Amino acid sequence: MDSLTVIVPVYNEATVLDNFYERVVSVLDGLREKDSIEGRMLFVDDGSTDESVAMIKKLAGNDPRVSLIRLSRNFGKEAALSAGLDHAESDAVVIIDADLQDPPELIPEMVSLWRQGYDTVYGQRTERRGETFLKRYTASLFYRFVGNLGRVSIPRDTGDFRLLSRRSVLALRNLTESNRFMKGLFAWIGYRQAALKYTRDPRYAGETKFNYWKLWNFALDGITSFTTAPLKLASYIGVMLSLGSFAYGVYVILKTLIYGDPVPGYPSLMTVVLFIGGIQLLFLGVLGEYLGRMFDETKRRPLYLIEEHLNAEQKRGVIQGKKAVAGHEV
Ligand code: UDP
Ligand code: MG
Repeated sequence: MDSLTVIVPVYNEATVLDNFYERVVSVLDGLREKDSIEGRMLFVDDGSTDESVAMIKKLAGNDPRVSLIRLSRNFGKEAALSAGLDHAESDAVVIIDADLQDPPELIPEMVSLWRQGYDTVYGQRTERRGETFLKRYTASLFYRFVGNLGRVSIPRDTGDFRLLSRRSVLALRNLTESNRFMKGLFAWIGYRQAALKYTRDPRYAGETKFNYWKLWNFALDGITSFTTAPLKLASYIGVMLSLGSFAYGVYVILKTLIYGDPVPGYPSLMTVVLFIGGIQLLFLGVLGEYLGRMFDETKRRPLYLIEEHLNAEQKRGVIQGKKAVAGHEV
């Protein structure tokens, strides 16, 4: 019998967890009967401060298919997903948000595509309900930008909701960078990928954890980890400016030779000085974005720390993220 783990990152989702559990459980029951797949749920608690942990523990107490990894603090969704992927030992995993924006009822279709030989089956949103125009617009702008510049193309309108085969999961574990832009990593591993179209529902309850500032930083992570195009842009603009200023210099010299030098031109001088200054600061900033991320990478810190690991056998342990060592389990 094949096994499937549903990985759920959770950050303050107490208002939706019971409903989420009900819906996933009925899907898992269906899979067991129709596809003879043994489904499990792995909740990764990302430092919730509400009742989420207590609720998951209660679910785990009543249902051996539920397990919980509790991170030592809020590390962010990408780290929570990495923790889940590092600990899921099944033939396939499904990543799904706890807020029911991704319908669990799609999982059987994902499974059937997986059985047809696809390694990744990702949900592609045809419609996003309950999200503001600005969010949809900035999201599509971002996908277009990264899609055009990066060497790996990231499918558009695709979130983290997806099924991954065992070998995709193993491949992802090998990617050790601390800057985890998951959508990019999913695309980077390649293998056979299939899209499954669906309508993204509004959040069932609770609030989104991503404000525009977080999304902007997320976009910067995405761009800097998948393309060096902004760095190249600096060189191209530099070349253009040098050529332009050379031509302008020739013009100024000729003008002085022919018409003399009455020293006008304070405004144009000021404009040029400010423009060059601005461009230089801008590209210092771009350099800084890359340098800062390199700094983070060189520290080689674990992606997450586990506070508590509660699985079907009620085994508790303190495991270090990323390079989890079996000997560390208590
Ligand atoms: N999440 C998380 N850690 C965080 C923020 C979010 O694990 O720091 C989880 C959250 O509980 C949810 C999923 O990531 O299951 C998606 O978050 P959310 O619905 O807030 O994002 P949105 O759908 O608005 O992009
Ligand atoms: Mg959501």
